[in-house]
Amino acid sequence: MDLFEHQAKELFARHGVAVPRGRVAWKPEEAEAVAAELGGTVVVKAQVQIGGRGKAGGIQLARDPAEAREQAARIIGMDIRGHTVRRVLVEEASEIAAEYYVAILHDRAGKGFLAMASAEGGVEIEEVAASKPEAVVRVPVNPLIGLRPYHVNQLLYGALFAPEARKGAAELLARLYQVFVAADCLLVEVNPLVLTAAGQVIALDGKVSLDDSALVRHPDLEALRDTFAVDPQEQAAKERGLNYIKLDGYVGIIGNGAGLVMSTLDVVAQAGGKAANFLDVGGGASAETMADGLEVILSDQKVRSVLVNIFGGITRGDLVAQGILDALERLGDKVQVPLVVRLDGTNALEGRELLAASPHDQVIPAATMLDAARKAVELADAKAGA
Ligand code: GDP
Ligand code: MN
Repeated sequence: MDLFEHQAKELFARHGVAVPRGRVAWKPEEAEAVAAELGGTVVVKAQVQIGGRGKAGGIQLARDPAEAREQAARIIGMDIRGHTVRRVLVEEASEIAAEYYVAILHDRAGKGFLAMASAEGGVEIEEVAASKPEAVVRVPVNPLIGLRPYHVNQLLYGALFAPEARKGAAELLARLYQVFVAADCLLVEVNPLVLTAAGQVIALDGKVSLDDSALVRHPDLEALRDTFAVDPQEQAAKERGLNYIKLDGYVGIIGNGAGLVMSTLDVVAQAGGKAANFLDVGGGASAETMADGLEVILSDQKVRSVLVNIFGGITRGDLVAQGILDALERLGDKVQVPLVVRLDGTNALEGRELLAASPHDQVIPAATMLDAARKAVELADAKAGA
């Protein structure tokens, strides 16, 4: 789960990482009130989970509360690279003397943590890494040892931080590491970390990716989950306890067992199609889970055909077939696309007979997985052409 900048900064502040004073606002009037409270010039920042907000016009200075309200009114509702702005962060403006980049992340290849720093802050770090790799200093950190002063010195001297920024940056990095560990983060990134004209070092931006698997340990952070940011189908699936991941294709996929679903994605690709999702209904695929799964998949407007791929082991084919039929009854005319069903394993014959005898002509049986994938892709293509 990624946090919004204002949430990241609230988390930073709890651990003593220096951030500008400010607060989130959902309405222009709120932005005006926050600006009045802060006094002086403020910056109004679009809160979306994507970079490049400045270039898109989503970051504006405002000299007084009335201007803050006007800027907020302009920014809220704005579309920034496909993300709709629903709130802004209003904070005291900073006078920037220098911009840096720092980050701490999990390094899978290195099997540890990685701390990074650069004096080329304020711009896309990927660009810096590509055009001027020597400007980005990487220091591996052993999680059992933690971030020590010698790591910090390697970062700050290696990246040529200005001497007057070193003390503040060192302190900030130590606290940022505390955030990283305490909140079970996959990534904490500050771009830009700034040295202000007054000589302070503060986090002017903040990006935090939390480890979803560790969220059970952080109910306070789990509560920050933004229902707007989550895909509606993924949200619905989560509420129903399904393992669903949305992809960008058009063939909906349901299978039992993660391995089977993954190989189903492969055969759909082999048949020239693109999968719309990954949905594993698990071992005991009951009528209810089938209906829930189908409902989630069919609510995705891009889906033009559905491929149900079930291998009966403990799961019995006849029960799955009954589940599909019950689901069709329950969903009624929500089912506007063909359903190619491949049933194999325990009681597959009984299951296929049930499907064949049903009055639902959108159910199309298939003998093998590849055959099923070909049919599903063909039907989806036909629907696109129609
Ligand atoms: P991003 O582009 O979406 O990552 O947004 P950032 O929060 O990193 O801001 C982009 C740029 O806006 C920064 O690099 C700064 O140059 C500028 N900026 C942000 N806040 C302030 C501020 O308080 N004062 C000034 N002068 N510039 C700011
Ligand atoms: Mn930034």
